[in-house]
Formats: sequence, structure tokens, C-alpha cells
Amino acid sequence: MLNVKASRPALAAGLAVVMVLGYTLARPASRPATHPAAPVTQGADSNEFAPFVFIHAGDPELGSPDLPGTSKRFGQLAQRANSIGAAMVVIAGDLVRNGDKADQLRALDEALKTFKMPVRAVPGNHDDLAAFRKRFGPENSVFTVSNCDFVCVNSNDLSASALSWLEEALKLAVERRRTHVFVVMHHPPEDDKAIGKLLSKYGVAAVLCGHLHRTGEAPHKGYVTYWVSGTAKFRDENGLRYNVFRVYKDRIEQESLPLEKDVGRMAPTSSMPASRPQTHGMP
Ligand SMILES: [Zn+2]
Repeated sequence: MLNVKASRPALAAGLAVVMVLGYTLARPASRPATHPAAPVTQGADSNEFAPFVFIHAGDPELGSPDLPGTSKRFGQLAQRANSIGAAMVVIAGDLVRNGDKADQLRALDEALKTFKMPVRAVPGNHDDLAAFRKRFGPENSVFTVSNCDFVCVNSNDLSASALSWLEEALKLAVERRRTHVFVVMHHPPEDDKAIGKLLSKYGVAAVLCGHLHRTGEAPHKGYVTYWVSGTAKFRDENGLRYNVFRVYKDRIEQESLPLEKDVGRMAPTSSMPASRPQTHGMP
């Protein structure tokens, strides 16, 4: 079970502050979504922190023709998010199976309406960038919740210009004294690649991913990567899962939860360690 040390009233008060602070995208959705010279997190000048809860989900692949029930299961996720009062939901890509298919995008639009909180996302390899931008804004963006930066990265394009955008975003988070920094990207990062080195360098707390259709976590030098099977299909023994993160000033607690009761189990293996509540100390 999750060990929540903060009192419930404190958490509730924290959520109220989160709602007041609001959410900001790096840039308006209507601008061209190339890599900007420097990420700007508008309206997030305050360094005020209050505890909050968010959900990390992945790969809903809504409207997928060979996966019946994707909308129903994504709806279950919305119910969970609504019932625990999550401040927001981040979806780590592959929102639909065929990114430009109108019926699948309609299923996505309908599903998004069922969440009572903001839903943020990054594109996966199945997503169409134009359709993504229309719904979520630029594919590389930063938003701030309660003095925590969420740096959203399009991992389909880790070119030099994309990486320099990411480095600017991470530098700015340090300059702005963010309490915690999360990076959201569809493909899990690799340590020996340039992106792995960047993530280690700037004090990222956690990297939230999808794509594998598996659930697990891996410690890296300076940060932890989490990946979730998501709401459409799974390729491990753990079933459909999502992560709940409880964010406190001095620690972040993570819990992997099954979407459907009695389906799947978390089985520890050397390559895919069991997910469990995690506590990350402040740097
Ligand atoms: Zn994928």
C-alpha cells in the first residue's frame, strides 16, 4: 500500500492551490509547432508549491479496429482520475492507432470530454502531428503545476534542434527553482544516447513513458523512468495499468494500479522490475 505521510486536509488544501495556479502550455496551439528557441512557461511565475496528485497513463490507441473496447477502458481511467481528484492526467502517446483516421480521432475527442481535469499528452509513433497539435498544442511544450515543470517531448524526433530545445527547458526549470521536474515522452530514453545524458544532467525527477505496453520502472543516473502498459493492450503479466503520482515538496510517491480488477499481476523480473510506491528524496 502507498504510504502517504501528508494529512488528508493538507492534500486537499494543496489541490485547491493547484487549481488556482492553473496550467500553462509553452505556447498557444495555433502557432507553428517547430522547436522554439526557448520554452516559455506562461503564467507560472510563482514558486508556490502545494502537494498534488496526477495520473500517468499511456497508449489508449482509441478506436483501434482490432482492439474492441478501447473507449470503454479509457473511460474507466477517466472515472478513476475523477474519483481520486487527480489534478491532471498525462498520456504518454499513441492516443489513437491510426493518427489521421477521423473516426479514431472522434473517439479520442469524445473520450477526452469525460475527464474533469486537464489532460496533457505527447505524440507517439501512431499519432499524426497535425491532429495532435490541434488537440494538445505543440508537441514539445512545458507546463507548470504547483511549481513543478512537466516537459513534454516528442520522442519521434530527437534531432539536434529538439535536444537543444529540451536542454533549454531543463535549464530554465533549474533557473526557476522548480520543486520537481518531470519529462513526458513516448519512447523510454536510452542512457547512452544524448537524451539520456541530458536527463541525468539537469535533475529530472522522473521520466514518464509508454510504447512498450509493459509496466515497470528503471533507475538511471539521477532519475527514474516509469512506463505503463496503458489502457488498450499489454505485453507482460501485469495487465492494463496506470500510475498514480503523489507529489510532495520533499518526495514523490508512485503507485502502479490495475485498470481492471483481477487482470494481471505485478511480477518482478530482472528486466522489468515490479513497480511499487517510490520515494525520491530531494536533490
Ligand atoms: Zn508506440
